[in-house]
Amino acid sequence: MVLYRLARKVNSQIKKYKKYQNGRFLSPSRRIEFVNPPHEGRFVAMTFDDGPTTLPTTSDPTVGLTDSILQTLSKYGAKGTFDIIGTTAENYPDEAGTAGDFSWSGVHYDHYPKFDCDSSAGAVNCPELVERIIAHGHEITSHTYSHRLFGPMRAVYGDRIHFTELEQVVTDLERLDAYMLGKFGYKMRLFKRSGPLRYPWIQTGIMQTLSFGKNLRGRWHRIHSA
Ligand SMILES: [Zn+2]
Repeated sequence: MVLYRLARKVNSQIKKYKKYQNGRFLSPSRRIEFVNPPHEGRFVAMTFDDGPTTLPTTSDPTVGLTDSILQTLSKYGAKGTFDIIGTTAENYPDEAGTAGDFSWSGVHYDHYPKFDCDSSAGAVNCPELVERIIAHGHEITSHTYSHRLFGPMRAVYGDRIHFTELEQVVTDLERLDAYMLGKFGYKMRLFKRSGPLRYPWIQTGIMQTLSFGKNLRGRWHRIHSA
């Protein structure tokens, strides 16, 4: 009976610990609404994908989109997460797609900030914006170098060109990782994939190959400290 009570006590402590940890770690592929928030305080996590970019905002053509986000975050003393790309400039030959369709930024690949304007986005093309993001103390995560699909998803993307081998994905990720480290001395700890993930082996392989963070079971990544 004593042993039983002790086991129950230990079990409840383990459950409590797991519940606590649940709010502090994000799977790289888990949607944010599935994650419990930290238990103390109130937090909003904001992520900004596919940049940085010098392309102007729609409301004010004199201000760049990333610049505007940085200014707004500064105004409220807030920190955000920028899921950056390297560049989509190599994603050609391609044809312009249709607005309102998955192909809005290109039929065969993605192009940021828009088709034929690749040089206005990405860490490689906008290094001064990366420097500002770092200087302002925001988090930068890898959103892949070229923003290509990790696998097919025909219902959404039709025949869009995608990676077929783990090696291609790893090379793409390592490229941005090396660039960020070499150019800015910045080590990205998190990664957000670019599009659907159809091959679980790609995710497992990525986690085993790259050490973006192996602090919990080798596949969970710490988010901003709560
Ligand atoms: Zn994206």
